Amino acid sequence: MLAIVSAIASTPRSPVGITESRNIVSLHWPSLTADRRQRDLDSLASGETIDVLVIGGGITGAGVALDAASRGLSTVLVEQSDLASGTSSYSSGLVHGGLRYLASRQINVAVESATERGILMERTAPHLVRSLPMLMPDLADIPAKRRRLARLGFQAGDLLRASVRTNKSLLPAPRRISGAEAKLLFPTVRADSGLLSFDGQLEDDCRLVIAVARTAAAYGAKILPRVTARWIAGDGAQVRDELTGLETRINARSVVNATGVWAGKLEPGVRLRARRGSHIIVPTSTLRDPRAALVVPVDGTFHELVSVLPQSDGTTYIGTTDVLVDDIGARVQPTADDVDFLLATANKALEVALTRDDVVGQFAGLRPVTIDDEGVEVDLSRKHQISIGDTGALTIVGGKLTTYRKMAEEAVDKAVEIAGIWAADCQTRALPLVGAASRDRLAEIKAPQRLIDRYGVEAEQLVALAADNKDLAAPVVAGSPVTRAELVFGVQNELAMTPEDLVDRRTRLGLVDGQRAEALEVATSLLAHAV
Ligand SMILES: Cc1cc2nc3c(=O)[nH]c(=O)nc-3n(C[C@H](O)[C@H](O)[C@H](O)COP(=O)(O)OP(=O)(O)OC[C@H]3O[C@@H](n4cnc5c(N)ncnc54)[C@H](O)[C@@H]3O)c2cc1C
Repeated sequence: MLAIVSAIASTPRSPVGITESRNIVSLHWPSLTADRRQRDLDSLASGETIDVLVIGGGITGAGVALDAASRGLSTVLVEQSDLASGTSSYSSGLVHGGLRYLASRQINVAVESATERGILMERTAPHLVRSLPMLMPDLADIPAKRRRLARLGFQAGDLLRASVRTNKSLLPAPRRISGAEAKLLFPTVRADSGLLSFDGQLEDDCRLVIAVARTAAAYGAKILPRVTARWIAGDGAQVRDELTGLETRINARSVVNATGVWAGKLEPGVRLRARRGSHIIVPTSTLRDPRAALVVPVDGTFHELVSVLPQSDGTTYIGTTDVLVDDIGARVQPTADDVDFLLATANKALEVALTRDDVVGQFAGLRPVTIDDEGVEVDLSRKHQISIGDTGALTIVGGKLTTYRKMAEEAVDKAVEIAGIWAADCQTRALPLVGAASRDRLAEIKAPQRLIDRYGVEAEQLVALAADNKDLAAPVVAGSPVTRAELVFGVQNELAMTPEDLVDRRTRLGLVDGQRAEALEVATSLLAHAV
């Protein structure tokens, strides 16, 4: 247990350079750049003791950094690679309303999910989360009784939405639809009828992480990618700058280990295994441009589902699998079996027969599981776990992108309690992320909708970049909507430091195998000029 180090009065901060009026965020959000990273890193050499050191730059670490910094705590985040380079860039991108937890009677988890979905959609990130129509077709292998149960489940999900006061205009009530209406939404679906419901869909999981990290920086957090924690303790960590190889000790009143499935490497008492969740990517045109997602029960029950999820860039993700893996390596890939399983399950509900030839990309992420005292596997992707280990650091693992804010609130509450730091109450429930504005304000922005969905109010800056330099209006690769201006913006504002950062995480060009090499070439050349 940590000793009480000090009692420090903190007050909630205002972000640098931001003003709000009529619920509209104006002025420019501060940029995260390589220069700023270097200055922030240099400033730690004095050996000052900060309040909160966060290890890991996925959604959990970024969320903790934002929560701590906005309470007025001095905060540093270190990430061994790029922001969002772990599991947070390999999700399905859904902002769940908690329906699946209702089915397993985990009411608290369901309420938490539904509440956080509402906060993201209505307050903190309306630009990044849209309402997604989801069609569950009535397939022949689903008995009528199960269909009735499914409908009751969706109705309960709608009651949950109402109980946490998320606006019905954003997430309309579920209803049965005819085969004709189903085909209007999903032209290649094979069904005479189905159930239509609504949930939240992220424009891009990486963009959420970047937005949270930049917002944390606006509140004073030092965000340091390519800095690895070599070991941690309750009062700091030994870190290595991956760009120079130099090592430094960072002294901190509290340390939060948010390294996802790799948490056990820094905190040996945290024993994790992982399950691989794979997605394949097909061109949306192969499915004749659906306007809804498709949800396909794997075996006629609703325990396991495969979702067909159209994205805004002309691709569709199909996922996921759930397979125990032996090795928690740095990067996992879908196996041939995963690909065949996803194709076969999706094809049950489709009039077109997708084959391996239709697959233009694939990716996989790891869900953490732990073994409880009775030897039973516990799925941490439903509910996160917070623990204090032998090192004295706090570890937070599991949970979901959807609930990152609440997870961060709990982690920081616990961290300050243990460290004996006085901190203001959590501020993040009503704190807009970079780019956020009311939906009315977003509708006024003069920019392509795709840019507004990805950058919110900052879309205007991308339009201005392309207006100043016509070359930047050109697509990075032919046939993709992503422009060169987005790459430049990534370098100038979002701490993209390598071509891979730009192609794999500031944009998602790299997910499509056939365009990755060309996109990397363009990114390399633009980076050289930007430097
Ligand atoms: C297939 C799949 C689909 C999913 N779909 C959804 C979904 O639709 N909706 C949803 O809400 N959630 C979803 N999730 C869950 C969600 O993606 C995860 O809960 C979340 O991304 C985990 O974030 P994290 O920050 O804890 O971990 P990570 O994103 O893995 O971040 C951990 C970071 O720590 C860094 N790190 C590790 N060791 C060190 C070190 N020593 N020093 C410095 N840095 C270090 C890593 O590089 C990494 O960037 C899905 C998960 C999977 C696997």
